[in-house]
Amino acid sequence: KAKQAGKNRAQPYAPHMQADALARVHLEADLRIAVEQRAFELHYQPIVECASGALVGAEALIRWRHPERGMISPLEFIPVAEECGLIVPIGEWVLSEVVRQRRDWLARGYPLLRLTLNVSGVQFREAGLPELVRTLLAEGGTARGSLVFEITESVLMSGNDENVEARMCDIKEQGICFALDDFGTGFSSLSYLKRFPVDIVKIDRSFVRDCPDDGNDASLVEAIINMAHSLGLRVTAEGVESAEQREFLRALGCDYLQGYLIGKPLAADAFEAIMAPLPSVAAAAHCTESC
Ligand code: C2E
Ligand code: MG
Ligand code: MG
Ligand code: MG
Repeated sequence: KAKQAGKNRAQPYAPHMQADALARVHLEADLRIAVEQRAFELHYQPIVECASGALVGAEALIRWRHPERGMISPLEFIPVAEECGLIVPIGEWVLSEVVRQRRDWLARGYPLLRLTLNVSGVQFREAGLPELVRTLLAEGGTARGSLVFEITESVLMSGNDENVEARMCDIKEQGICFALDDFGTGFSSLSYLKRFPVDIVKIDRSFVRDCPDDGNDASLVEAIINMAHSLGLRVTAEGVESAEQREFLRALGCDYLQGYLIGKPLAADAFEAIMAPLPSVAAAAHCTESC
């Protein structure tokens, strides 16, 4: 109840609140304005094919341009947005912006890359999501393997399995693939990979970080890659920062790499500079494959 009141009238409650609770109220209020003003940007982090090093895609990562604080990380505001429901309009903006950017890049002769975006559990469960996807793709061209929704294990565990699966299938029918993000950090078992129509597994950065020196992490990464492959899935390793990690992952047959070694997330115009020298035929051919 206090939280509800705080949304509209933060001031009278201020003296009783902890500093962090107050900061949280301010953040939520600012976020509400940011949504109205579309004060967000997407940055794109390159994803390469492990074997060849060819650029095959990018992950769209949101940033908030705060008028006083500058760029704010999604780690700070996405959890708040999820709690107060603003994640729904934010997620819709992200999806529409990725579809718009993809169409713009194609129209301007850039290669068709596989663009991946993060879909919050709250957004995934929103009744209107499949319809929104349909509408946006009707305007922006078909996806056929070139758009990927990243969801986390918690989304798969979030409710009735049949409902989750039906929703995934509905979205997949429109040519969108699913990647399981931050794989290994949640509580789901490997059986979830078989149970749900997931196409790509993204090994969490925390497992890649100490590879290959840490024997436990190295074994785990190897096991995830082998298991995913035996189920017919592709594997992306997140947080690849060293050439040693890249060689280790290549030797294990990992499919795709993402991380600071390959490239940091870049604003759209800076990302264009790294797409430009690409042989477009090779990249486009890559996308028409099933995920
Ligand atoms: P994520 O989806 O796991 O994205 C990867 C994060 O790791 C990104 O942080 C990226 O910048 C960072 N990263 C990539 N390579 C490296 C590396 O080599 N080393 C290190 N140290 N970090 C690396 P970012 O952009 O701050 O995003 C954080 C998280 O916020 C994302 O994790 C994702 O869960 C969430 N997020 C980002 N954009 C969106 C969005 O549009 N919608 C939703 N719902 N969540 C988003
Ligand atoms: Mg992600
Ligand atoms: Mg991730
Ligand atoms: Mg992660």
